[in-house]
Amino acid sequence: APRVLTLGETMGLLTGGRIGSLAHVSEMHVGIGGAETNVAVSLSRLGVPVTWIGRVGDDSLGRRVVREIRGEGVDVRAHLDPDAATGLMLKELTGPGTARVYYYRAGSAGSRLTATDVPAGLVESAGLVHLTGITPLLSDSAREACLSVVRRAREAGVRVSFDVNYRSTLAPAHVAAEVLGELAAEADLLFGSPDELAHVVPGGAGDGPEPGSAPGDEEIGALARALDPTGAREIVVKRGADGASAYADGSVVHAPGHRVDVVDTVGAGDAFVAGYLSGDVQGRSVEEKLVRANACGAVMCTMAGDWEAAPTPAELEAFLSAGGDPVQ
Ligand code: ATP
Repeated sequence: APRVLTLGETMGLLTGGRIGSLAHVSEMHVGIGGAETNVAVSLSRLGVPVTWIGRVGDDSLGRRVVREIRGEGVDVRAHLDPDAATGLMLKELTGPGTARVYYYRAGSAGSRLTATDVPAGLVESAGLVHLTGITPLLSDSAREACLSVVRRAREAGVRVSFDVNYRSTLAPAHVAAEVLGELAAEADLLFGSPDELAHVVPGGAGDGPEPGSAPGDEEIGALARALDPTGAREIVVKRGADGASAYADGSVVHAPGHRVDVVDTVGAGDAFVAGYLSGDVQGRSVEEKLVRANACGAVMCTMAGDWEAAPTPAELEAFLSAGGDPVQ
C-alpha cells in the first residue's frame, strides 16, 4: 500500500487520575500524544504504512515518545534536540467524558522542527502527505517545514491532506486564518469542523454556519465552493456526534455518527482522519471513507486516551456489524 508521511509535535501527556481540578488532583497518568502521531498510530493499526517526522528533546519523555510510536509500527524519524525539552500537555478531567487540556510547549523541541528535518526523497516517495494546522503555528521554522513539504509534494505529484485543527492557544484567529489558509489552499483533501473551514476560506469570506447548528447540504456546498471554486478538491466536514459530511465532485455526501457511551472524545478527530485516509490510499469511495472514518472516531470516544483505542480492521468490522449503532 502507498506510504503516508506526516510531521508534527508529539508531547508527554499527563492525565488526571480522577475527575477534578488540577488544583487538587494529586495523581497523574503518564502517556504521550500529538495530533499527527495519533493519526499515524491509527493508520498503522489499519495496516497503512506510515512515517512520522518530528523533534523531541534528548530526554526521558522524548525517548518515551520515540519508543511508543515506533512500537506501534510507525516509521519514526525523530530528531533528538539537545537544546530544548520535549513538550508537555496536562489533561484535566472535568466530568464524565469531558476534559480540558493545558499545553506546556512554547520553545519545546517539537516546535523547533525545520524544513531540513525532512530528508530528501521521503516526501517524493510518499503516497500521501498529511499535515495539521497545529504544526505551522508552532514556530516560523515549523511553518517553513510545512510549506516546504507541501511544495515538494505538489512538485512530485503527491496528494496533500490537511486537517485545519485550529488551536486558539497557538495563535489569534486572524494570524491562524492567514497561515492555515495558505496550507488549506494547497490541500487535495481538507478536513475541519464547519467553523474551522469557514476560517480558512480565501479572503476570510465566511463566518461559517451558526455555532452549534447542524449545517445542511446548502451550507456545506456553499462553504466548499468558497474554499474550492474549481471543485477539484475533497472537503470533509467533521460534525462530532452528528457524524460527518464530504464535498467531492460537486456533491455533498452525509454520513451519520454512531451513538456510543462516551468516555473521552479527545483524539476522535484524529482517528476519524486516519479512517478516512486509510480508505483514500486504498482507493475507496467517498461513502466508504466516511463510514470508516465515523466508526474510527466513535470507537476512539469509547475508551480513555488520545490514541490507544485506535481500532484494528477486525475491531472496526466488529463495531460496524454489532455495536455500530448509527444515529438516525
Ligand atoms: P478533536 O480535535 O477533539 O479530536 P475534532 O473537533 O477534530 O475532534 P469531532 O468532530 O469532535 O472532531 O469528531 C470527529 C469525529 O469523531 C466525528 O466526525 C465523529 O465521526 C466522531 N465522534 C466525535 N464525537 C463523537 C461522539 N460523541 N459520538 C460518536 N462519534 C463521535
